[in-house]
Amino acid sequence: MNNKDIAEVDLQYIWHPCTQMKDHEVIPIIPIKKGYGVYLEDFDGNRYIDAISSWWVNLFGHTNEQISSAIKKQLDELEHVIFAGFTHEPIVRLSKRIVELTPTELTRCFYADNGSSGVEVALKMAYHYYKNNREDRDLFVSLTNSYHGETIGALSVGDVKLYKETYSSILINSIQTPVPADQSIEAAVEAAVALEECLANHKDRICALILEPLVQGAGSMHMYNPLFLKLARELCDKYDTLLIADEVMTGFGRTGTMFACQSADISPDFMILSKGLTGGYLPLSIVLTTDKIYDAFYCEYSEHKAFLHSHSYTGNALACAAANATLDIFESDNVIENNLEMADFLAKEVLVFNKLKEVKSTRSQGMIAAVDLMGFDTNRRVGVEIHRYALDKGVLLRPLGHTIYFLPPYTITKEQLKYIFQVTYEAIESL
Ligand SMILES: *Cc1c(COP(=O)(O)O)cnc(C)c1O
Repeated sequence: MNNKDIAEVDLQYIWHPCTQMKDHEVIPIIPIKKGYGVYLEDFDGNRYIDAISSWWVNLFGHTNEQISSAIKKQLDELEHVIFAGFTHEPIVRLSKRIVELTPTELTRCFYADNGSSGVEVALKMAYHYYKNNREDRDLFVSLTNSYHGETIGALSVGDVKLYKETYSSILINSIQTPVPADQSIEAAVEAAVALEECLANHKDRICALILEPLVQGAGSMHMYNPLFLKLARELCDKYDTLLIADEVMTGFGRTGTMFACQSADISPDFMILSKGLTGGYLPLSIVLTTDKIYDAFYCEYSEHKAFLHSHSYTGNALACAAANATLDIFESDNVIENNLEMADFLAKEVLVFNKLKEVKSTRSQGMIAAVDLMGFDTNRRVGVEIHRYALDKGVLLRPLGHTIYFLPPYTITKEQLKYIFQVTYEAIESL
């Protein structure tokens, strides 16, 4: 079988995510046969460096030996079990480890199976927490340009028009306050002033502020100063509002620290983890919360305060085995510390793009770097052009609009990064 054989059947039967399917009349879909390390290989034998960690999930390469063998081992023991009334060893071990790794006030793990459903859980829990305390708070606050997933609740608190606008009349109540304009301290302070005004104006109606700490992923890898997180935490306390940290993308070392909240030394009321949690192997998410929240639900069944939310695959044992193996690698390979050098390299090398007249700005945070282009008609799909150029040269990029970003597996080498940058540079020149 070659690429063409598989692509033909694919396009006959499948509707792909986040895709205008008609595009595939001219853009070939690429059937991947295997993955190893940072490489993906298609059925025609072409290989691509996965510079975006397969939609930001992969941390230690494809078919990583340690993670693969942990899943195989778990497979012979227990694949899955109902998670109400039952539990299993991998999830107990994982939960204890995650609580120990995250900020101290986070003491409880609630499980779901992807980032969006994790966000739904946090939103519902926040709302329900006030309800259990005899308050009806029907409003969520989020930052402009934020992204929290595609399900209705998650979409409601997001602010990327491209995904949201169509559904505006069926979304839940949320308002947006400005995200800091850039990575400066001044921008953080300015945004905190606006946040305070927002919280003060809607006091007693707001049940939570939800944000992506440090880096807004789908919002074109927009980055801001950790000071804003500190100020946001203080303001949530001052105005008695819960803080939800959506670390679905930023968690597990992506922004430099194990969790982005730790860059500001804050403890949110909820922390949502997914993407890197299983090393990019299997869908799983965790919503961590505090004793304060947990205790508001803990009472006699007849009081009707329990959180009656579940997903069929909640707490899947194979996914938990993958997550434990991922944490093993963090421990044994000193990942956070070793990433510092690579993050430095990324930060320096990305500056090269400023030489190009098509480049407006560059930025980086930990293991993410981004390049904004300028001067192109907004209707021109520059990102698609860059994507196709890079694929031809064996690099998988997936720009967000006119922003090109790099979010590689942590196992990438400097040589591979240099190649990615060289190809991207040529791709921009070719526009
Ligand atoms: C990807 C993402 C989500 C949604 O996760 P899914 O697993 O795709 O549903 C939510 N929040 C952030 C910050 C994300 O990057």
